Amino acid sequence: MNLDNIRIVLVNTTHPGNIGGVARAMKNMGLSRLYLVAPEKFPDEQAVWRAASAGDLLDSAVITATVEEAIGDCQFVVGTSARERRIPWPLLDPRQCAARIGALAGREQVAILFGREDRGLTNEELQLCNLHLNIPTSDAYSSLNLAMAVQIVCYELRMLLVQGDLPASEDDQWDTPFATLANLERFYLHLEQALTDIEFLDPTAPRQLMARLRRLYGRVRLDEMELNILRGILTETQKWVERGRHGS
Ligand code: SAH
Repeated sequence: MNLDNIRIVLVNTTHPGNIGGVARAMKNMGLSRLYLVAPEKFPDEQAVWRAASAGDLLDSAVITATVEEAIGDCQFVVGTSARERRIPWPLLDPRQCAARIGALAGREQVAILFGREDRGLTNEELQLCNLHLNIPTSDAYSSLNLAMAVQIVCYELRMLLVQGDLPASEDDQWDTPFATLANLERFYLHLEQALTDIEFLDPTAPRQLMARLRRLYGRVRLDEMELNILRGILTETQKWVERGRHGS
């Protein structure tokens, strides 16, 4: 596992102090790649103050306008959440999640998403993810401070390295790279269009169909060749429908 292949992505953070706290939590545990999606106030002296000796992580932070820009090149994405969402997703605690990431982050780019202080990640953002991470808490109060949540997740990654019993790599024997998020997003758009063309999907009553398909493909983890095969099938299906419409 290479911690440099793991990025921490903060979505729409409100308080710059939290960004500084996250930088410190990361640097203490040996992570260095911080991505900020549309932060409300950054750069800011409160961030610098809370970062203490981790100011270098703030200086090298990558700022993007959208989540997709921050994680488009990633092959594995984890979304953190303090509560259960409408459609259940594969859900791990930080230790289980670190073990899973440890089996990938030798070669692959991994992102861990953290949400807004007041309302976390949106359902759409959580549906970009392969799996969800929940930090077990008391039922009385399940929402941790953002930087403390990052600290716990990074600590478990550190412990994997410290203990030295890294899980067997999932991707070493694989012949084709796993699909990036950007390519998967293009595939989902194509799939949605093709399912609409064949009238399997009714855009006026989509009934969470795309969310369920995202969950399915996210669980399987397509490689780039499998993705191209599926896109080829969609294109031919669309041609077939088009020919049928013109009565030939
Ligand atoms: N009220 C929000 C909580 C936001 S806390 C909600 O209900 O979703 C800000 C961020 O810290 C969350 O988006 C998540 O990234 C992280 N976080 C806080 N508590 C967490 C927990 N128990 N498990 C996992 N992530 C948590």
